Amino acid sequence: MNAEIVAVGSELLLGQIDNTNATYLSRQLNNLGVNVYHHTVVGDNEERLYKVLETALNRSDLVITTGGLGPTKDDLTKETLAQLLSRNLVYDKITEERIIEYFKQRSRTMTENNRKQALVIEGSKIIDNHHGLACGMLMTYENKKVMMLPGPPKELIPMFENECIPLLNRQLSNSSFIQSRVLRFFDIGESQLVDIIDDLLETQTNPTIAPLASDGEVTLRLTVKGENEGQNEQKLDDLQDKVVERLEPYFYGTGNDTLSKSVSDLLRIMDYSLSSAESLTGGSFSTELTSLDGASNFFKGGFITYTNEQKHELLGISNELLNKYGAISHECAEALAKQVRLQTGSNVGLSFTGVAGPKEAEGKQPGLVYVGLSTEDELVSYELRLAGSRSNIRERSVKYGLYYLLQWLRKEMKKVDE
Ligand code: ATP
Ligand code: MG
Repeated sequence: MNAEIVAVGSELLLGQIDNTNATYLSRQLNNLGVNVYHHTVVGDNEERLYKVLETALNRSDLVITTGGLGPTKDDLTKETLAQLLSRNLVYDKITEERIIEYFKQRSRTMTENNRKQALVIEGSKIIDNHHGLACGMLMTYENKKVMMLPGPPKELIPMFENECIPLLNRQLSNSSFIQSRVLRFFDIGESQLVDIIDDLLETQTNPTIAPLASDGEVTLRLTVKGENEGQNEQKLDDLQDKVVERLEPYFYGTGNDTLSKSVSDLLRIMDYSLSSAESLTGGSFSTELTSLDGASNFFKGGFITYTNEQKHELLGISNELLNKYGAISHECAEALAKQVRLQTGSNVGLSFTGVAGPKEAEGKQPGLVYVGLSTEDELVSYELRLAGSRSNIRERSVKYGLYYLLQWLRKEMKKVDE
């Protein structure tokens, strides 16, 4: 096991205090037989902290953070780590009670900030702090361990000696590895998905399969335990193959993949360019794509053709078509997709037109959306009936657009392979 110590605090960078926590922890870890390969110091800055933690998790088996667990605005360690691991912050009852008790005894009023100290990362083991309010935490992510400790040495040292050493010893003597993998699916409900792999769910014990639904997407977390990391990975691969074979159309990625990331990967491989014409999504599709690093390699641009006038002016959609079928129609979606592709000289044109709500439009119900897709030899449009708020409908339209695009790109990939 190799470890990295991440000390968080701008005071350390300003030279106002010495990083004695790192020295102390290194010595202790060395005694435990854990190799410390990196000491990192980062200020109270969310973005830089995020990057530092990401790097540490990539290269180290055990990451120990110190500092930034307090109640103030610049204490960001928990929040940032939760974001990086895609975990929620939840209130720990015991810590919360301890904080309430602390203020009661001193007859001081407790602020909301103080309550924040009882927030812990979901699924972590809580490490009690007998000399302060912020509890420590130990969690497992993929096959890595992260331990979060408070900054003040008078809290950190007793916590480490009394609580952490026994915990780490247990981890070290336990020679088995726990590895997990997340598979991501779209356009399928949790119950339908569970039904399709029912027998696998019933019989699987190692790896285990845990489904989770959120935001119109379903994920499956596969977790395996065993003494050999390579064999564990193989088991995850085998199970992934089995699951994906049955759910292929809905599967779009693993880990932190997003639909847009999967689409952009294929666009790059195929060397295809894309452009978009957006009505109800008002540019969110373009925003989603351009938020990806290197988007200019595959995304040419987009038109926001919100009114019928602009659909006509910018993309030459004929008034006859608009009068006859309306803007919210298969015909209009297809015309927009085709025109934007031709006008920008892209390989693929994608369009979005529909009713975001809450009011009807053209006598059509909110949630009725058409996504058009145009390529050199294909022109199709998809009708969606989405539920939810205006912003839900817009967001999900974008996801569906990406999803249809992904399906088409996979088909193209298969053609090349054959
Ligand atoms: P608090 O509850 O006090 O806010 P915290 O976990 O948020 O604790 P910080 O705010 O980062 O920790 O630091 C609090 C104090 O702890 C610092 O002012 C400093 O005295 C001490 N401290 C923090 N980090 C270190 C370090 N790496 N080495 C030595 N002392 C440290
Ligand atoms: Mg603090």
